[in-house]
Amino acid sequence: MPESTKNNLTLRILRAASNGGYGILAQSCYDTQSVLGLIEAAEEAKSPAIAQLFPVTMQQFGIHFTSFVIQACHAAKVPIAVHVDHAGTDEDIDRVLDWAEQGVAVDSIMIDCSHHDSDEDNIAMAKPYCQRATKLGMAVEVELGRLAGGEEGVRVIEEGALTKPEKAERFLTELDVDLLAPSIGNIHGRYVSPPSFRLDLLDKLQSTVGPGTASNALIVLHGTDDLKDELFRDCVARGCVKINVNSWARNPQVEYLRDHLGKDGLPEVYDGAKAEFARACSRFFTLFGSVNKSNLEV
Ligand SMILES: [Zn+2]
Repeated sequence: MPESTKNNLTLRILRAASNGGYGILAQSCYDTQSVLGLIEAAEEAKSPAIAQLFPVTMQQFGIHFTSFVIQACHAAKVPIAVHVDHAGTDEDIDRVLDWAEQGVAVDSIMIDCSHHDSDEDNIAMAKPYCQRATKLGMAVEVELGRLAGGEEGVRVIEEGALTKPEKAERFLTELDVDLLAPSIGNIHGRYVSPPSFRLDLLDKLQSTVGPGTASNALIVLHGTDDLKDELFRDCVARGCVKINVNSWARNPQVEYLRDHLGKDGLPEVYDGAKAEFARACSRFFTLFGSVNKSNLEV
């Protein structure tokens, strides 16, 4: 682990989870309601958590909103880190790092160069950014292999897109980062056929690059729409410590807004939408086993 990220909040939360055998909800937040809903639910459950922002949200609402998210999460009664998910273009990555240099620093960032044609290109593109982020004290997540999904019609994982443990080892050594998002049969967006995860590959990744190995990496699970509770539990048991969740909390919030806007007063609508979001977060704290784990030293 690079010296500059030794006290990094995302890593402190995830290392404690890894040692304790539980998972951490990394929840996508799109607005003030969702950020505050996540914080309220985490405080209620006495659970650590990670608030995730997409680059589009940072661009949309700007540096002052991002500053608010960081301040609100860091002021919570439980440890809540702020992470940027899927920063994949120069513009998106530069924005995060430039703002950090201006004093608005998130705790961690996913530098996602997995769309490049080869692993070599992936590494070459990601490396300078990984170094710059690490210098700023940010933890870095990278993706190796390629997750399908996100585009209509692309829903099948080909064998070649799965993450190879030996490649992961080289990749992590080259980039010197702590968080790995592998491709194990997970898909972004809706699963057309029931999810079929290569849990054996997850075991192999854990033993090749996971905690206690030279890479000492922490595994991140993407593509969690539609997963059954059982599969979530299996993944946590196999060392997925950061579990990215998007639509499970976003959809109830959006549905609430759709049903109540124009009928109820705006403050009441916001309260209701925030409560829907918080309810979904609470379920995951229980499912991932992170309730009452807010004291990271335990
Ligand atoms: Zn993802």
